[in-house]
Parts: sequence; structure tokens; C-alpha cells
Amino acid sequence: RSNSASTCPVLTKFQKDCDTPTPYLRNVANAIADDMRAGLAVEGGGDLDMILTYVDALPSGNEEGLFYALDLGGTNFRVRSVQLGGKKKRVIATESEQISIPQKLMIGTSEELFGFIAAKLASFVAKEKPGRFQLEEGRKREIGFTFSFPVKQTSIDSGTLIKWTKGFKVSGMEGKNVVACLNEAMEAHGLDMRVSALVNDGVGTLAGARYSDEDVMIGVILGTGTNACYVEQKHAIPKLQSKSSSGTTIINTEWGGFSKVLPQTIFDQEMDANSPNRGEHVVEFYPFFNNIYVFLFLFLQLFTVCVWMKLYEKMISGMYLGEIVRRVLLQMCETSDLFGQFVPVKLSTPFELRTEHLCKMQEDTTDDLQTVGSVLYNILEVEANLNARRRVVEVCDTVVKRGGRLAGAGIVAILEKIEEETKRMGSGKRTVVAMDGALYEKYPQYRQYMQDALVELLGDKLSHIAIKHTKDVSGLGAALLAATNSIY
Ligand code: ADP
Repeated sequence: RSNSASTCPVLTKFQKDCDTPTPYLRNVANAIADDMRAGLAVEGGGDLDMILTYVDALPSGNEEGLFYALDLGGTNFRVRSVQLGGKKKRVIATESEQISIPQKLMIGTSEELFGFIAAKLASFVAKEKPGRFQLEEGRKREIGFTFSFPVKQTSIDSGTLIKWTKGFKVSGMEGKNVVACLNEAMEAHGLDMRVSALVNDGVGTLAGARYSDEDVMIGVILGTGTNACYVEQKHAIPKLQSKSSSGTTIINTEWGGFSKVLPQTIFDQEMDANSPNRGEHVVEFYPFFNNIYVFLFLFLQLFTVCVWMKLYEKMISGMYLGEIVRRVLLQMCETSDLFGQFVPVKLSTPFELRTEHLCKMQEDTTDDLQTVGSVLYNILEVEANLNARRRVVEVCDTVVKRGGRLAGAGIVAILEKIEEETKRMGSGKRTVVAMDGALYEKYPQYRQYMQDALVELLGDKLSHIAIKHTKDVSGLGAALLAATNSIY
């Protein structure tokens, strides 16, 4: 243990390792764009999956009629009805309801889960006020279904579940068409509804934002996790096996999977080694671990690292920023007496320090950093002197600066890809990025660092670009996509 209070080698090294000067960011943006191209060329060509969403038509504003959105992606599901009135009347009426899913259904059978959802949908529809919501005669109620689990999409209205995540383990579902499961359940409940569009929340955000601004070309989510979707020209997608190569389609980049050329520190590596997605796979392969399979095991380990690292997501999204700070602080405690001789027990608990806490500490403008002191006291149960508080803020700032700047580099990569194909900025058109997620919404420093990166990388071109915060439009977007993909 060093007793030095004035220098902290751990912090100095960490700051150096996290540094992202402009040329470095340029490199990252170029590498992301390269992997976008590689992923568009062949399946698995690059770190970014570049998934075809089968959403070719975005809302125009002319949509009319009654449509629904159903959002299943966590412990709650949300249902929304939207009465659309075309260009003039726009959204005439909308109603929504959030329903929590009983724990036992998350680990039950698919009939139980979808039966529950269908029953709740039926009662939602039954409560509809006939004056405000009107279904055109002879039509079924059509749904835009946002299903936030890994899915292999096969058309606009079908996709098979790859695996459950987020605490769900519903039996008999993997490899099955999730839309068919829901359609069957609705039929069994005598509910005259059908899914017209299966979408993810990035696509929903893009569609919802596009409804009120035709220049929206990108949808970015920065919340617990992160993702980006954008409008791509079909001719720029070699892996698209469709005869027509004209027009556009939405690509779901799954950019969180990007893992090259990033400023990785020892703390990122340790966090990754302990992350649930990595662990899950290691556990799955353990039964094979014996002498004969040593080689295979090591190969699979390497494969797992390559596939599951998702380093970009772990550097830029809300779930992880607090955890990186916690790991750095712990090492500072153990090597440089950050809080005197005391190592707070709470500092050894993974994910105890959350991104919201970092934000609160960074917003502290008092001379003696009172809020920082009280967050450290309440969350980590430690009394920190002013020097320690300052250092904690420096660690937060380092992590958030790297995160915001890297997120900016990703946005630049997509903007430049779009520009390469369309030359829209060149012709004076604006390009709008629709942003959603609490990290973007509630963390001003993060937003500022992201903006700095855009300024540094785009210079004058930034005058053609608008970054727009579009809160919670993904439900509206899903309902609109049900309309644009209506069978009628
Ligand atoms: P999700 O991405 O899970 O759909 P949100 O968009 O609400 O949901 O994002 C939640 C995440 O945003 C949290 O995990 C947290 O990391 C981050 N977050 C929430 N509130 C704040 C805040 N006040 N300051 C900074 N980050 C926040």
C-alpha cells in the first residue's frame, strides 16, 4: 500500500488508457464503418450484425385507421392503441397501458405467457371508447409487435426466437416463430387481432421519429443497453438476396457488438470476464471440459470472447459506466488509500454503483462537493474527504467522457455511411438522428462529450445534421409500422 495522497498511479494510468483524442476517434469511426460494410456484405462479416429488419417503408404521415403496438422486452409489457387520421389529423387518439408479467410466467410455458398477454390485450380492447377509436369494417386489429429478445427475423411479420434473456426462460419457444405463438394465443382467446410487423425498439424509435420529421435517417438508443438502426440503400447491401435492389430498407446495426480498436483498460477486461453473457456461455460448455476436449474448449473460449465481448456496448451504455467506475475506485482504494486505510465493503459489490450515481456526482457544483460526499456515504457507506471526492469525480468524468465520445464516433460512422450512399448533405439536405434512452436524456455531461466528438469529427458538415431527442416514440413507431405493413 502506498500512503501517497497527492499522486495516484492507478488514476493516471486509467486516464491515459481511456484517452480518445480526435485522431483516435477518427480511427474508431472508420473501423465501425468498415465493419458495417463487412456486415452488409455477408452474414457475420464484421463485428456489427447489420440485421435486415424487412422494414422497407417508413411512415409517411398519410397513415389512417386504428392500429396497435405491443411491447414485450422485460418484466412489463406495454400495449398502445393509436387512431391515425392521415396528414391533416395525425394522431387523433391514443391510449396505453402497462402490465407487469407475473414472475412464474417468465419461466413457464409459451401457452401460459402468450395466453396471459392475449387475455390482457382482450381486456384492453374491451375498454376502448367507441367514439374515439374506430376500426374499419371487415378488418382485423393490426399490431406492431416490439419483441426485445434475440430474434432471427425472416420477414416483416415473422421471426424465430434465438434465445431468451433478461430472466425469461419460457419453455418450448426457442427456434419457434414468436409471431405465430402470439397469433395462435389471440385466436384461442377469440381475439380478432393479428401481428403485421415485428420490430425492435430501435426501428420503432426511427419510425416514430420519422412520422414527424421526414429527414430522420438514424435511430439511436442509449439507455441500459445501446443500439442503432438506420435507413440504408438496398443496392449497398450485397447480402440482401432480393431481386429488386432499388429503394431503401432499415438496418439494425446491433452496434453494441463492435469490439475492435477500442481503448480497452484492465478494468474493461475484468468486467467483461465477469459479465453475465460471457459467463453464461462458459457455463454451457463446462460439461465438455476434459482432456480430450481441452483444445475444443479453448477454441470455444476464444470464440465466446469474439462473439460476446460487446465491448462497445460495455463502454458506452448505462448498464456499465457505474460498474467501470466502481472497479477503478476499488483498485485505487487497494493501492493508493483513496479513502484512507478503509476499503468499503460495498465497493466490492458488482453493480452497486450505478450510472445514475455518477450523474448525480458530476452535477455537484458545491465547493466542497457535498453531493459527491453524500452519494459516497449513502451508496458505498464511506466518509470521503475533499481530495477523495475530487478523485472520484475525475474517475466518473474519465469513464463518461470516453463513453460519450465513443458513442459520438459511432453516430459519425453511420452518418458518413449514409452520406457515402446518398450525398444528401452535399445536396443541402439535413439528416436527423433520433435519440432515445435515459442515459442520453438524463446525463448532460455524457451528451456534451458526445456532441464534442461530432464537432471534432464532422466540422462544418455538422450544420446539415440535427440530433433530436425523441422520447418514447417507439410504441407509436411500432403502431405506424403495423399501418405501413397492413395486409389491407
Ligand atoms: P432501457 O434502456 O432499459 O429501456 P432507459 O432508457 O430508461 O431504459 O435507460 C435506463 C438506463 O439509463 C439505466 O440503466 C441507467 O444506466 C441510465 N440512467 C437512468 N437514469 C439516469 C440518470 N438520472 N442519469 C444517468 N443515467 C441514467
